[in-house]
Amino acid sequence: MTKQPYALAIHGGAGTILKSTMTPEKEAAYEEALRHAVAAGETVLQAGGSALDAVTASVCALEDEPLFNAGRGAVFTTAGKQEMDAAIMDGRNRDTGTVAGIFGPKNPVKLARLVMETTPHVCMIGEHVLELGRAAGLEFPDADYFFTQARWDALQDTLAMREKGEDDDDPARRHGTVGAVACDRMGNVAAATSTGGWTGKLPGRVGDTPMPGAGNFADNATCAVSGTGHGEIFIRWTAGAEIAARMRHLGETVVEAAEHVVMKDLKDNDGSGGVIAVDARGNLALPFNSEGMYRGWVREGDQPKVAIYRD
Ligand code: ASP
Repeated sequence: MTKQPYALAIHGGAGTILKSTMTPEKEAAYEEALRHAVAAGETVLQAGGSALDAVTASVCALEDEPLFNAGRGAVFTTAGKQEMDAAIMDGRNRDTGTVAGIFGPKNPVKLARLVMETTPHVCMIGEHVLELGRAAGLEFPDADYFFTQARWDALQDTLAMREKGEDDDDPARRHGTVGAVACDRMGNVAAATSTGGWTGKLPGRVGDTPMPGAGNFADNATCAVSGTGHGEIFIRWTAGAEIAARMRHLGETVVEAAEHVVMKDLKDNDGSGGVIAVDARGNLALPFNSEGMYRGWVREGDQPKVAIYRD
């Protein structure tokens, strides 16, 4: 017997291609990739699976898609390397696992889940966690698998602009992350997020994704959140935890709390980006303060939807 209808939301980053430079072909490719990622998570929920498995499935689909900045297609650091961050969190008990600055596994989110499920730790970096992934049988493709010419060219453009003292204000070049939040039929929520970070970030920089309560958070008592945008600001304003705190202490709905944090706390402090959030009743919120956010969502019984811009 169904306890309640499931709900799922995904994002492919707020580093949206400016509407002025979007083509119908590109738009169709992004929408198709988003639909595929929603379907990957919904298939799990439809079969009575957990929110945790659903967000893992959706984020893997997004990591495998070179259009998005995570896994295959991750952006490059100033040193021309790819360093990835990923996180997963279980709303039943706030169990969480994260990895930072890693390169190797096809699906960084699976390594984050391994940290959660097989170690006593929350966040791991370095060679040892990669060894754990290999030992557990995670896929480690050749390094070329992760390379995309578009991301490499974006790094060259960014470095050339910096050389001239110009700011790189193209969000499509700078931003990007993927994420998923879900509420299953048991009323359990979960969140997962994965990213290459920022084009031209310094080697060793860690973003908001692997910092629980910043870019990724889940607690059945409030909500599950996955963020995308200016990571440093998400960290300083503890974006995910703040949304949950507003629900818990002010009695706000997930929509009100997410809206406040994204449109006020983050926006007023140069924190461009957005979040996807779901509460334990399956209510969804997808606010963003940027030109767009690649996103998709579904509630049991409804048709899945995808969108990029505001309209
Ligand atoms: N939040 C990510 C980071 O700062 C980037 C993004 O979502 O655009 O690493």
